[in-house]
Amino acid sequence: VNAGLEGLKELPAETTDGYRMPLWVNTGLITDVARSLDRGAEGIGLYRTEIPFMIRDFFPSEQDQMETYRKQLEAFAPRPVTMRTLDIGGDKPLPYFPIEEDNPFLGWRGIRVTLDHPEIFLVQIRAMLRAAEGLNNLRIMLPMVTSVHEVDESTKLIAQAVEELREEGHVINQPLIGVMVEVPAAVYQVRRFARRVDFISVGSNDLTQYLLAVDRNNPRVASLYVPYHPAVLKALQFIVHEAHKENVSVSICGEMAADPGGAILLMAMGYDVLSMNATNLPKVKFALRGISFDRARELLNQIIVMDDVDKIHMTLRNALKELG
Ligand code: PEP
Ligand code: MG
Repeated sequence: VNAGLEGLKELPAETTDGYRMPLWVNTGLITDVARSLDRGAEGIGLYRTEIPFMIRDFFPSEQDQMETYRKQLEAFAPRPVTMRTLDIGGDKPLPYFPIEEDNPFLGWRGIRVTLDHPEIFLVQIRAMLRAAEGLNNLRIMLPMVTSVHEVDESTKLIAQAVEELREEGHVINQPLIGVMVEVPAAVYQVRRFARRVDFISVGSNDLTQYLLAVDRNNPRVASLYVPYHPAVLKALQFIVHEAHKENVSVSICGEMAADPGGAILLMAMGYDVLSMNATNLPKVKFALRGISFDRARELLNQIIVMDDVDKIHMTLRNALKELG
């Protein structure tokens, strides 16, 4: 199968009736980058910056971070690279910055940590901005946002970093800024976020976990962790409609986009970009090239009114079989 997928590299993810779907990748290490380009990725929808932090024994310096980020930005230029600000806590521990909590997924994670430590945030933002100097393909993305206040605080700090660097003589363009929608509170504030930033990106891994109250890593409840749950599908559809009311582009960077069935439904909902792991990109492209947008819409309309997860899974499976 993989050999057959090889030839897809240069071909767009275009449905049989000519609907074009941008496919981007999620990265973490520089080794992901060559593989992603090799598979025809059109951008990076999620660069998990905590990964280079996790493989060190201490906080990397601004210079160190800048060099790491520069490699991703350079390799992908002029394609866009979406760098997520440090998303530690929850399931992403830093060995040299221990966080002990009873409920880490409801605790100090993502933007909550970095807004409590603006010095960590500012160093990272400065490193990103410097890394993008002369390339101008940087998008900055904020994780675990639950309130407008967090968006405003973050954009203020980013503006401060831009100003500082300009005063120091750097040529810094204003980066695009985006908010991740990965908790239920964010779902109901998409329009407010959209008025403040340049893009919205859905983290369906966490969104599934928080909507269904199911720990994404607990094997005992793994069978309840279902991205195709009717409530999750409803939320995903709602997010697109809300973002588009403000004419803001909305992407998805959770694992759901890496599943051919998920990708078809998300395209039909109107997602502007699907970002996924590089391994699955050819498979997703193959699936999208084999279906018409009309058929995908039909499938979505059929599935979105279903009450039962098993029936949804079966309907999707049959539809994929039909595609070969
Ligand atoms: C997500 O939550 O869907 C996401 C993309 O971020 P992570 O998996 O890194 O939490
Ligand atoms: Mg997440």
